[in-house]
Amino acid sequence: MKVIDHWIGGKATSGSDERRGAVWNPATGQQQAEVVLAGRQDVDAAVAAARDAFPGWSQASLSARTRVLFAFRELVNANIERIAEAITDEHGKVLSDARGEVQRGLEVVEFACGIPQLLKGDFSAQISTGVDLHSFREPLGVCAGITPFNFPAMVPMWMFPVAIACGNTFILKPSERDPSASLILAELWAEAGLPDGVFNVLQGDKEAVDGLLEHPDVAAISFVGSTPIARYIHGRASQAGKRVQALGGAKNHAIVMPDADLDYASDHLVAAAFGSAGERCMAISAAVAIGVGSELVDRVSQKALAMKVGSGRETASQMGPVVTAQARDRIIGLIDSGERQGAQIHVDGRGITVPGYEQGYFVGPTVIDAVTPQMDVYREEIFGPVLSVVRTDDVDAAIDLINANPYGNGTTIFTSSGEAARRFQRGVHVGMIGINVPVPVPMAYYSFGGWKDSLFGEHHIHGPEGVSFYTRGKVITSRWPHVDHAEHQAAHFNFPTAR
Ligand code: NAD
Repeated sequence: MKVIDHWIGGKATSGSDERRGAVWNPATGQQQAEVVLAGRQDVDAAVAAARDAFPGWSQASLSARTRVLFAFRELVNANIERIAEAITDEHGKVLSDARGEVQRGLEVVEFACGIPQLLKGDFSAQISTGVDLHSFREPLGVCAGITPFNFPAMVPMWMFPVAIACGNTFILKPSERDPSASLILAELWAEAGLPDGVFNVLQGDKEAVDGLLEHPDVAAISFVGSTPIARYIHGRASQAGKRVQALGGAKNHAIVMPDADLDYASDHLVAAAFGSAGERCMAISAAVAIGVGSELVDRVSQKALAMKVGSGRETASQMGPVVTAQARDRIIGLIDSGERQGAQIHVDGRGITVPGYEQGYFVGPTVIDAVTPQMDVYREEIFGPVLSVVRTDDVDAAIDLINANPYGNGTTIFTSSGEAARRFQRGVHVGMIGINVPVPVPMAYYSFGGWKDSLFGEHHIHGPEGVSFYTRGKVITSRWPHVDHAEHQAAHFNFPTAR
Protein backbone atom coordinates (compact mmCIF):
# COMPACT_ATOMS: atom_id res chain seq x y z
CA MET A 1 0.00 0.00 0.00
CA LYS A 2 1.34 3.44 -0.98
CA VAL A 3 2.19 5.60 2.08
CA ILE A 4 1.68 9.38 1.99
CA ASP A 5 4.24 11.08 4.25
CA HIS A 6 4.77 14.36 6.06
CA TRP A 7 7.20 16.91 4.61
CA ILE A 8 9.31 18.36 7.41
CA GLY A 9 12.52 20.39 7.14
CA GLY A 10 12.81 19.87 3.37
CA LYS A 11 12.21 16.14 3.16
CA ALA A 12 9.55 13.48 3.25
CA THR A 13 9.28 11.54 6.50
CA SER A 14 6.88 9.02 8.00
CA GLY A 15 7.34 10.63 11.42
CA SER A 16 7.24 8.84 14.74
CA ASP A 17 3.56 7.98 15.17
CA GLU A 18 2.29 4.54 14.13
CA ARG A 19 -1.24 5.68 13.29
CA ARG A 20 -2.35 5.66 9.63
CA GLY A 21 -5.49 6.85 7.83
CA ALA A 22 -7.08 5.24 4.78
CA VAL A 23 -7.17 7.25 1.53
CA TRP A 24 -9.93 6.09 -0.81
CA ASN A 25 -10.60 6.46 -4.50
CA PRO A 26 -14.22 7.70 -4.40
CA ALA A 27 -14.94 6.59 -7.99
CA THR A 28 -13.96 2.95 -7.40
CA GLY A 29 -14.62 2.72 -3.68
CA GLN A 30 -11.19 1.11 -3.24
CA GLN A 31 -8.53 2.14 -0.74
CA GLN A 32 -5.57 3.44 -2.75
CA ALA A 33 -3.11 4.64 -0.08
CA GLU A 34 -2.60 5.25 3.58
CA VAL A 35 -1.58 8.56 5.05
CA VAL A 36 0.61 8.94 8.12
CA LEU A 37 -1.13 10.69 11.03
CA ALA A 38 0.96 13.01 13.20
CA GLY A 39 1.36 12.60 16.93
CA ARG A 40 2.72 15.27 19.28
CA GLN A 41 6.35 14.45 18.48
CA ASP A 42 5.69 15.06 14.79
CA VAL A 43 3.98 18.36 15.59
CA ASP A 44 7.07 19.34 17.62
CA ALA A 45 9.37 18.34 14.75
CA ALA A 46 7.41 20.39 12.19
CA VAL A 47 7.26 23.44 14.47
CA ALA A 48 10.97 23.16 15.26
CA ALA A 49 11.83 23.01 11.53
CA ALA A 50 9.65 26.06 10.82
CA ARG A 51 10.99 27.95 13.85
CA ASP A 52 14.60 27.29 12.88
CA ALA A 53 14.00 28.43 9.30
CA PHE A 54 12.29 31.67 10.36
CA PRO A 55 15.33 33.90 11.14
CA GLY A 56 16.90 33.25 7.75
CA TRP A 57 13.75 33.47 5.68
CA SER A 58 12.30 36.52 7.42
CA GLN A 59 15.59 38.35 6.80
CA ALA A 60 15.89 37.26 3.14
CA SER A 61 15.57 40.27 0.86
CA LEU A 62 12.32 40.96 -0.93
CA SER A 63 14.08 40.20 -4.22
CA ALA A 64 15.32 36.84 -2.96
CA ARG A 65 11.83 35.87 -1.76
CA THR A 66 10.20 37.05 -4.98
CA ARG A 67 12.61 35.01 -7.09
CA VAL A 68 11.56 31.83 -5.27
CA LEU A 69 7.87 32.71 -5.68
CA PHE A 70 8.28 33.25 -9.42
CA ALA A 71 10.10 29.91 -9.77
CA PHE A 72 7.35 28.18 -7.74
CA ARG A 73 4.70 29.75 -9.99
CA GLU A 74 6.40 28.34 -13.09
CA LEU A 75 6.76 24.88 -11.55
CA VAL A 76 3.14 24.63 -10.40
CA ASN A 77 2.04 25.80 -13.82
CA ALA A 78 4.14 23.08 -15.46
CA ASN A 79 2.70 20.44 -13.09
CA ILE A 80 -1.01 21.32 -13.23
CA GLU A 81 -1.88 17.98 -14.79
CA ARG A 82 -0.01 15.96 -12.18
CA ILE A 83 -1.61 17.86 -9.29
CA ALA A 84 -5.06 17.70 -10.90
CA GLU A 85 -4.82 13.93 -11.37
CA ALA A 86 -3.89 13.44 -7.71
CA ILE A 87 -6.89 15.57 -6.71
CA THR A 88 -9.31 13.70 -8.98
CA ASP A 89 -8.16 10.29 -7.72
CA GLU A 90 -8.53 11.22 -4.03
CA HIS A 91 -11.37 13.76 -4.06
CA GLY A 92 -13.44 12.54 -7.02
CA LYS A 93 -14.02 15.85 -8.80
CA VAL A 94 -13.68 15.83 -12.60
CA LEU A 95 -10.25 16.61 -14.03
CA SER A 96 -11.26 19.91 -15.65
CA ASP A 97 -12.54 21.08 -12.28
CA ALA A 98 -9.34 19.95 -10.54
CA ARG A 99 -7.26 21.88 -13.11
CA GLY A 100 -9.44 24.91 -12.43
CA GLU A 101 -8.75 24.83 -8.69
CA VAL A 102 -4.98 24.66 -9.28
CA GLN A 103 -5.34 27.64 -11.62
CA ARG A 104 -7.24 29.65 -9.00
CA GLY A 105 -4.54 28.76 -6.44
CA LEU A 106 -1.85 29.89 -8.87
CA GLU A 107 -3.50 33.29 -9.05
CA VAL A 108 -2.71 33.75 -5.35
CA VAL A 109 0.93 32.83 -6.03
CA GLU A 110 0.94 35.47 -8.80
CA PHE A 111 -0.54 38.01 -6.37
CA ALA A 112 2.15 37.12 -3.82
CA CYS A 113 4.87 37.68 -6.46
CA GLY A 114 4.03 41.39 -6.04
CA ILE A 115 5.09 41.29 -2.37
CA PRO A 116 7.67 44.12 -2.69
CA GLN A 117 4.84 46.42 -3.68
CA LEU A 118 2.38 44.95 -1.14
CA LEU A 119 4.74 45.41 1.81
CA LYS A 120 5.55 49.05 1.08
CA GLY A 121 5.13 51.18 4.16
CA ASP A 122 4.21 54.86 4.46
CA PHE A 123 6.45 57.82 5.13
CA SER A 124 5.48 61.31 6.28
CA ALA A 125 8.24 63.89 6.49
CA GLN A 126 8.12 66.72 9.03
CA ILE A 127 5.05 65.59 11.03
CA SER A 128 6.38 68.00 13.62
CA THR A 129 9.37 70.31 13.31
CA GLY A 130 12.37 68.08 12.65
CA VAL A 131 10.32 64.89 13.16
CA ASP A 132 9.49 62.18 10.56
CA LEU A 133 7.14 59.21 10.76
CA HIS A 134 7.26 55.94 8.83
CA SER A 135 5.72 52.49 9.01
CA PHE A 136 6.52 48.99 7.89
CA ARG A 137 5.18 45.49 8.45
CA GLU A 138 6.99 42.41 9.73
CA PRO A 139 6.16 38.69 9.52
CA LEU A 140 4.65 36.90 12.53
CA GLY A 141 6.81 33.75 12.72
CA VAL A 142 5.53 30.19 12.36
CA CYS A 143 2.06 30.15 10.76
CA ALA A 144 -0.13 27.07 10.39
CA GLY A 145 -2.91 26.34 7.89
CA ILE A 146 -5.59 23.68 8.43
CA THR A 147 -7.54 22.92 5.29
CA PRO A 148 -10.66 21.02 4.11
CA PHE A 149 -10.99 18.12 1.71
CA ASN A 150 -12.92 19.95 -0.97
CA PHE A 151 -10.07 22.04 -2.42
CA PRO A 152 -6.84 20.15 -1.61
CA ALA A 153 -4.70 22.55 -3.70
CA MET A 154 -6.58 25.85 -3.93
CA VAL A 155 -7.47 26.43 -0.28
CA PRO A 156 -3.89 25.77 0.96
CA MET A 157 -2.78 28.16 -1.81
CA TRP A 158 -5.14 30.82 -0.41
CA MET A 159 -2.81 30.80 2.60
CA PHE A 160 0.82 29.81 2.17
CA PRO A 161 1.94 31.92 -0.85
CA VAL A 162 0.99 35.09 1.03
CA ALA A 163 2.32 33.88 4.39
CA ILE A 164 5.66 32.84 2.89
CA ALA A 165 5.99 35.95 0.70
CA CYS A 166 5.54 38.06 3.86
CA GLY A 167 8.56 36.26 5.41
CA ASN A 168 6.80 33.71 7.63
CA THR A 169 7.42 29.99 7.74
CA PHE A 170 4.45 27.68 7.29
CA ILE A 171 3.03 24.34 8.39
CA LEU A 172 0.17 22.98 6.28
CA LYS A 173 -2.13 20.40 7.88
CA PRO A 174 -4.16 19.24 4.87
CA SER A 175 -7.30 17.14 4.95
CA GLU A 176 -6.46 13.50 5.68
CA ARG A 177 -8.95 12.47 2.97
CA ASP A 178 -6.94 13.87 0.02
CA PRO A 179 -3.39 14.58 1.20
CA SER A 180 -1.30 13.97 -1.95
CA ALA A 181 -1.55 17.42 -3.59
CA SER A 182 0.11 19.01 -0.56
CA LEU A 183 3.18 16.80 -0.94
CA ILE A 184 3.54 17.61 -4.64
CA LEU A 185 3.40 21.31 -3.74
CA ALA A 186 6.11 20.77 -1.09
CA GLU A 187 8.39 19.11 -3.65
CA LEU A 188 7.83 22.00 -6.06
CA TRP A 189 8.71 24.56 -3.38
CA ALA A 190 11.99 22.71 -2.76
CA GLU A 191 12.73 22.65 -6.49
CA ALA A 192 11.98 26.39 -6.65
CA GLY A 193 14.76 26.99 -4.10
CA LEU A 194 12.74 27.62 -0.95
CA PRO A 195 15.04 26.97 2.04
CA ASP A 196 14.30 23.80 4.04
CA GLY A 197 11.80 24.28 6.85
CA VAL A 198 10.03 27.32 5.36
CA PHE A 199 7.17 25.14 4.06
CA ASN A 200 6.21 21.95 5.89
CA VAL A 201 3.34 19.51 5.54
CA LEU A 202 2.04 17.79 8.66
CA GLN A 203 -0.40 15.03 7.78
CA GLY A 204 -2.96 14.20 10.41
CA ASP A 205 -6.28 14.56 12.16
CA LYS A 206 -7.55 16.22 15.34
CA GLU A 207 -4.39 15.25 17.23
CA ALA A 208 -2.20 17.23 14.80
CA VAL A 209 -4.61 20.17 14.88
CA ASP A 210 -4.74 20.26 18.68
CA GLY A 211 -0.94 20.02 18.81
CA LEU A 212 -0.65 23.09 16.56
CA LEU A 213 -3.29 24.98 18.57
CA GLU A 214 -1.44 24.34 21.81
CA HIS A 215 2.11 24.87 20.59
CA PRO A 216 3.58 28.08 22.03
CA ASP A 217 5.78 28.64 18.96
CA VAL A 218 2.89 28.77 16.50
CA ALA A 219 1.97 32.44 16.04
CA ALA A 220 -1.03 32.26 13.72
CA ILE A 221 -3.64 29.78 12.54
CA SER A 222 -5.61 29.93 9.30
CA PHE A 223 -8.46 27.43 9.12
CA VAL A 224 -10.96 26.59 6.41
CA GLY A 225 -13.56 23.87 7.01
CA SER A 226 -16.95 23.25 8.58
CA THR A 227 -18.53 25.74 10.97
CA PRO A 228 -18.42 23.66 14.19
CA ILE A 229 -14.67 23.05 13.74
CA ALA A 230 -14.09 26.69 12.70
CA ARG A 231 -15.76 27.84 15.91
CA TYR A 232 -13.64 25.42 17.95
CA ILE A 233 -10.38 26.49 16.25
CA HIS A 234 -11.18 30.18 16.65
CA GLY A 235 -11.98 29.76 20.34
CA ARG A 236 -8.92 27.71 21.23
CA ALA A 237 -6.45 29.70 19.13
CA SER A 238 -7.75 33.01 20.53
CA GLN A 239 -7.50 31.66 24.07
CA ALA A 240 -3.89 30.68 23.40
CA GLY A 241 -3.18 34.25 22.24
CA LYS A 242 -2.68 33.34 18.58
CA ARG A 243 -3.84 35.32 15.61
CA VAL A 244 -6.61 33.31 13.92
CA GLN A 245 -8.87 33.38 10.89
CA ALA A 246 -11.36 30.51 10.67
CA LEU A 247 -13.59 30.20 7.63
CA GLY A 248 -16.61 27.95 8.05
CA GLY A 249 -19.48 26.39 6.16
CA ALA A 250 -22.18 27.90 3.99
CA LYS A 251 -25.71 27.88 2.67
CA ASN A 252 -25.67 29.94 -0.49
CA HIS A 253 -28.92 31.28 -1.94
CA ALA A 254 -29.62 32.38 -5.50
CA ILE A 255 -32.63 34.65 -5.98
CA VAL A 256 -34.35 34.24 -9.34
CA MET A 257 -36.44 37.33 -10.12
CA PRO A 258 -39.46 37.29 -12.46
CA ASP A 259 -37.48 39.49 -14.89
CA ALA A 260 -34.48 37.09 -15.06
CA ASP A 261 -33.47 35.34 -18.28
CA LEU A 262 -34.63 31.89 -17.16
CA ASP A 263 -32.52 29.97 -19.66
CA TYR A 264 -29.38 31.71 -18.48
CA ALA A 265 -30.38 31.42 -14.80
CA SER A 266 -31.21 27.71 -14.98
CA ASP A 267 -27.99 26.87 -16.88
CA HIS A 268 -25.92 28.66 -14.27
CA LEU A 269 -27.92 27.29 -11.33
CA VAL A 270 -27.30 23.72 -12.47
CA ALA A 271 -23.56 24.36 -12.84
CA ALA A 272 -23.36 26.14 -9.46
CA ALA A 273 -25.40 23.51 -7.60
CA PHE A 274 -23.95 20.32 -9.11
CA GLY A 275 -20.41 21.32 -10.15
CA SER A 276 -17.91 19.37 -8.03
CA ALA A 277 -20.94 17.35 -6.80
CA GLY A 278 -22.01 20.34 -4.70
CA GLU A 279 -18.87 20.03 -2.55
CA ARG A 280 -17.95 23.71 -2.80
CA CYS A 281 -18.35 26.26 -0.03
CA MET A 282 -19.66 28.63 -2.73
CA ALA A 283 -22.05 26.09 -4.31
CA ILE A 284 -25.62 27.32 -4.70
CA SER A 285 -27.77 25.03 -2.58
CA ALA A 286 -30.98 27.08 -2.32
CA ALA A 287 -32.77 28.76 -5.23
CA VAL A 288 -35.23 31.42 -4.08
CA ALA A 289 -37.84 31.72 -6.82
CA ILE A 290 -40.02 34.80 -7.06
CA GLY A 291 -43.06 34.19 -9.27
CA VAL A 292 -41.18 31.78 -11.56
CA GLY A 293 -41.09 28.67 -9.37
CA SER A 294 -42.69 26.02 -11.57
CA GLU A 295 -40.98 27.06 -14.78
CA LEU A 296 -37.62 27.28 -13.03
CA VAL A 297 -38.03 23.83 -11.47
CA ASP A 298 -38.93 22.35 -14.88
CA ARG A 299 -35.94 23.87 -16.64
CA VAL A 300 -33.46 23.05 -13.89
CA SER A 301 -34.80 19.50 -13.67
CA GLN A 302 -34.39 18.89 -17.41
CA LYS A 303 -30.81 20.11 -17.28
CA ALA A 304 -30.04 18.09 -14.14
CA LEU A 305 -31.35 14.92 -15.76
CA ALA A 306 -29.13 15.49 -18.80
CA MET A 307 -25.94 15.70 -16.71
CA LYS A 308 -23.29 13.04 -17.23
CA VAL A 309 -22.23 11.54 -13.90
CA GLY A 310 -19.12 9.38 -13.95
CA SER A 311 -15.54 8.92 -12.87
CA GLY A 312 -13.64 12.21 -12.76
CA ARG A 313 -10.99 10.68 -15.01
CA GLU A 314 -13.46 10.28 -17.92
CA THR A 315 -13.55 13.38 -20.07
CA ALA A 316 -17.30 13.11 -20.73
CA SER A 317 -18.11 13.33 -16.99
CA GLN A 318 -19.57 16.60 -15.74
CA MET A 319 -19.85 15.43 -12.16
CA GLY A 320 -17.93 12.82 -10.18
CA PRO A 321 -18.63 10.93 -6.95
CA VAL A 322 -18.76 12.52 -3.49
CA VAL A 323 -15.72 12.12 -1.28
CA THR A 324 -16.55 9.19 1.00
CA ALA A 325 -19.20 6.54 1.63
CA GLN A 326 -20.16 8.43 4.82
CA ALA A 327 -20.67 11.65 2.85
CA ARG A 328 -22.87 9.77 0.35
CA ASP A 329 -24.98 8.22 3.14
CA ARG A 330 -25.40 11.56 4.91
CA ILE A 331 -26.55 13.30 1.70
CA ILE A 332 -29.03 10.51 0.97
CA GLY A 333 -30.31 10.72 4.56
CA LEU A 334 -30.96 14.45 4.13
CA ILE A 335 -32.85 13.90 0.85
CA ASP A 336 -34.95 11.25 2.69
CA SER A 337 -35.70 13.80 5.41
CA GLY A 338 -36.88 16.33 2.80
CA GLU A 339 -39.30 13.75 1.42
CA ARG A 340 -40.57 12.90 4.93
CA GLN A 341 -41.02 16.55 5.81
CA GLY A 342 -43.20 17.28 2.76
CA ALA A 343 -40.86 18.56 0.04
CA GLN A 344 -41.24 17.34 -3.55
CA ILE A 345 -38.32 15.43 -5.04
CA HIS A 346 -38.35 16.43 -8.72
CA VAL A 347 -35.06 14.85 -9.69
CA ASP A 348 -33.85 12.06 -7.42
CA GLY A 349 -30.13 11.27 -7.29
CA ARG A 350 -30.48 8.49 -4.71
CA GLY A 351 -29.61 5.02 -5.84
CA ILE A 352 -27.70 6.03 -8.97
CA THR A 353 -25.18 3.50 -10.30
CA VAL A 354 -22.40 4.31 -12.73
CA PRO A 355 -21.51 1.39 -15.04
CA GLY A 356 -17.96 0.21 -14.36
CA TYR A 357 -17.93 2.05 -11.00
CA GLU A 358 -20.60 0.16 -9.07
CA GLN A 359 -18.71 0.53 -5.77
CA GLY A 360 -18.17 4.30 -6.18
CA TYR A 361 -19.69 6.92 -3.87
CA PHE A 362 -22.14 8.44 -6.33
CA VAL A 363 -25.18 10.62 -5.71
CA GLY A 364 -26.90 12.00 -8.79
CA PRO A 365 -28.07 15.61 -9.21
CA THR A 366 -31.15 16.15 -7.04
CA VAL A 367 -33.77 18.90 -7.34
CA ILE A 368 -36.19 19.39 -4.45
CA ASP A 369 -39.15 21.77 -4.72
CA ALA A 370 -41.54 23.21 -2.11
CA VAL A 371 -38.78 23.43 0.47
CA THR A 372 -39.49 25.53 3.57
CA PRO A 373 -36.95 27.12 5.95
CA GLN A 374 -37.98 24.66 8.70
CA MET A 375 -36.91 21.55 6.76
CA ASP A 376 -33.55 19.87 7.39
CA VAL A 377 -32.62 20.05 3.69
CA TYR A 378 -32.76 23.82 4.04
CA ARG A 379 -31.26 24.17 7.51
CA GLU A 380 -28.29 21.82 7.05
CA GLU A 381 -25.28 22.42 4.83
CA ILE A 382 -25.76 19.30 2.67
CA PHE A 383 -22.44 19.57 0.80
CA GLY A 384 -23.70 17.35 -2.00
CA PRO A 385 -25.45 17.70 -5.38
CA VAL A 386 -28.80 18.84 -4.01
CA LEU A 387 -30.64 22.00 -5.06
CA SER A 388 -33.58 23.09 -2.91
CA VAL A 389 -36.15 25.48 -4.34
CA VAL A 390 -37.83 27.87 -1.91
CA ARG A 391 -40.47 30.38 -3.00
CA THR A 392 -40.99 33.94 -1.76
CA ASP A 393 -43.22 36.84 -2.84
CA ASP A 394 -40.72 39.60 -3.57
CA VAL A 395 -37.08 40.60 -3.35
CA ASP A 396 -37.45 42.02 0.18
CA ALA A 397 -38.85 38.72 1.46
CA ALA A 398 -35.97 36.91 -0.28
CA ILE A 399 -33.41 39.23 1.36
CA ASP A 400 -35.08 38.63 4.76
CA LEU A 401 -34.88 34.85 4.19
CA ILE A 402 -31.15 35.08 3.37
CA ASN A 403 -30.50 37.27 6.40
CA ALA A 404 -32.35 34.90 8.73
CA ASN A 405 -29.93 32.11 7.75
CA PRO A 406 -26.97 31.69 10.13
CA TYR A 407 -24.46 31.47 7.27
CA GLY A 408 -23.29 34.41 5.16
CA ASN A 409 -20.71 33.12 2.69
CA GLY A 410 -22.01 33.77 -0.84
CA THR A 411 -25.25 34.70 -2.58
CA THR A 412 -26.45 35.65 -6.05
CA ILE A 413 -29.33 37.34 -7.81
CA PHE A 414 -30.48 36.60 -11.36
CA THR A 415 -32.31 39.67 -12.64
CA SER A 416 -32.45 42.30 -15.34
CA SER A 417 -33.42 44.98 -12.81
CA GLY A 418 -30.60 47.23 -11.66
CA GLU A 419 -32.84 48.48 -8.88
CA ALA A 420 -33.41 44.98 -7.47
CA ALA A 421 -29.70 44.15 -7.80
CA ARG A 422 -28.72 47.30 -5.94
CA ARG A 423 -31.26 46.70 -3.15
CA PHE A 424 -30.01 43.12 -2.87
CA GLN A 425 -26.27 43.90 -2.68
CA ARG A 426 -26.85 46.55 -0.02
CA GLY A 427 -29.42 44.56 1.96
CA VAL A 428 -27.90 41.09 2.37
CA HIS A 429 -25.64 40.21 5.31
CA VAL A 430 -23.29 38.14 3.19
CA GLY A 431 -19.60 38.56 2.34
CA MET A 432 -19.50 37.61 -1.36
CA ILE A 433 -22.26 38.62 -3.75
CA GLY A 434 -22.95 37.80 -7.39
CA ILE A 435 -25.18 39.70 -9.79
CA ASN A 436 -25.99 37.29 -12.63
CA VAL A 437 -22.76 35.54 -11.54
CA PRO A 438 -23.57 32.25 -9.77
CA VAL A 439 -20.29 31.52 -7.96
CA PRO A 440 -18.84 34.91 -7.01
CA VAL A 441 -15.40 33.82 -5.78
CA PRO A 442 -13.26 36.99 -5.76
CA MET A 443 -9.95 37.17 -7.62
CA ALA A 444 -6.71 36.71 -5.68
CA TYR A 445 -6.08 40.45 -5.41
CA TYR A 446 -9.32 40.89 -3.44
CA SER A 447 -9.99 39.04 -0.20
CA PHE A 448 -12.27 36.01 0.20
CA GLY A 449 -14.55 35.63 3.19
CA GLY A 450 -18.08 35.28 4.46
CA TRP A 451 -20.00 36.86 7.33
CA LYS A 452 -21.74 35.41 10.41
CA ASP A 453 -21.20 31.63 10.89
CA SER A 454 -19.14 31.47 7.69
CA LEU A 455 -16.12 33.24 9.19
CA PHE A 456 -14.72 33.68 12.69
CA GLY A 457 -12.04 36.34 13.10
CA GLU A 458 -11.49 39.78 11.60
CA HIS A 459 -9.55 38.99 8.46
CA HIS A 460 -10.77 37.58 5.18
CA ILE A 461 -8.30 35.35 3.33
CA HIS A 462 -5.72 36.20 0.58
CA GLY A 463 -5.56 39.59 -1.17
CA PRO A 464 -4.81 42.68 0.92
CA GLU A 465 -6.39 41.22 4.08
CA GLY A 466 -4.12 38.19 3.72
CA VAL A 467 -1.05 40.42 3.75
CA SER A 468 -2.41 42.20 6.77
CA PHE A 469 -3.21 38.88 8.54
CA TYR A 470 0.30 37.48 8.05
CA THR A 471 2.15 40.63 9.18
CA ARG A 472 2.09 43.12 12.02
CA GLY A 473 2.84 46.79 11.76
CA LYS A 474 5.49 49.05 13.25
CA VAL A 475 5.24 52.83 13.22
CA ILE A 476 8.47 54.75 13.78
CA THR A 477 8.64 58.36 14.88
CA SER A 478 12.16 59.73 14.45
CA ARG A 479 14.03 62.90 15.12
CA TRP A 480 17.71 63.55 14.41
CA PRO A 481 18.27 66.85 16.19
CA HIS A 482 21.31 68.94 15.38
CA VAL A 483 23.31 69.35 18.57
CA ASP A 484 23.45 73.14 18.12
CA HIS A 485 19.71 73.59 17.64
CA ALA A 486 17.35 74.64 20.40
CA GLU A 487 15.08 71.59 19.87
CA HIS A 488 17.94 69.35 21.00
CA GLN A 489 17.42 70.68 24.51
CA ALA A 490 13.67 71.16 24.58
CA ALA A 491 12.04 68.24 26.43
CA HIS A 492 8.47 68.81 27.67
CA PHE A 493 6.42 67.24 30.42
CA ASN A 494 3.11 67.64 28.59
CA PHE A 495 1.79 64.96 26.22
CA PRO A 496 3.65 65.35 22.89
CA THR A 497 1.81 67.42 20.27
CA ALA A 498 3.05 68.56 16.87
CA ARG A 499 4.89 71.86 16.73
P1 NAD B 1 -13.87 19.66 8.35
O1 NAD B 1 -14.24 20.79 9.23
O2 NAD B 1 -14.38 18.30 8.68
O3 NAD B 1 -12.27 19.52 8.26
C1 NAD B 1 -11.45 20.62 8.02
C2 NAD B 1 -10.10 20.39 8.67
O4 NAD B 1 -10.27 20.28 10.08
C3 NAD B 1 -9.41 19.11 8.21
O5 NAD B 1 -8.04 19.38 8.02
C4 NAD B 1 -9.65 18.15 9.36
O6 NAD B 1 -8.59 17.22 9.52
C5 NAD B 1 -9.72 19.06 10.56
N1 NAD B 1 -10.62 18.54 11.61
C6 NAD B 1 -11.73 17.77 11.42
N2 NAD B 1 -12.31 17.49 12.59
C7 NAD B 1 -11.57 18.10 13.55
C8 NAD B 1 -11.66 18.17 14.97
N3 NAD B 1 -12.66 17.58 15.64
N4 NAD B 1 -10.73 18.88 15.63
C9 NAD B 1 -9.74 19.49 14.97
N5 NAD B 1 -9.59 19.44 13.63
C10 NAD B 1 -10.50 18.76 12.92
O7 NAD B 1 -14.30 20.09 6.86
P2 NAD B 1 -14.27 19.22 5.53
O8 NAD B 1 -15.37 18.22 5.59
O9 NAD B 1 -12.90 18.76 5.24
O10 NAD B 1 -14.62 20.34 4.46
C11 NAD B 1 -15.93 20.74 4.13
C12 NAD B 1 -16.35 21.95 4.91
O11 NAD B 1 -15.45 23.03 4.66
C13 NAD B 1 -17.72 22.47 4.50
O12 NAD B 1 -18.42 22.86 5.65
C14 NAD B 1 -17.40 23.67 3.62
O13 NAD B 1 -18.41 24.66 3.54
C15 NAD B 1 -16.20 24.20 4.31
N6 NAD B 1 -15.41 25.05 3.44
C16 NAD B 1 -15.48 26.40 3.64
C17 NAD B 1 -14.79 27.26 2.81
C18 NAD B 1 -14.84 28.74 3.03
O14 NAD B 1 -14.11 29.44 2.35
N7 NAD B 1 -15.64 29.25 3.92
C19 NAD B 1 -14.01 26.74 1.77
C20 NAD B 1 -13.96 25.36 1.59
C21 NAD B 1 -14.67 24.52 2.44
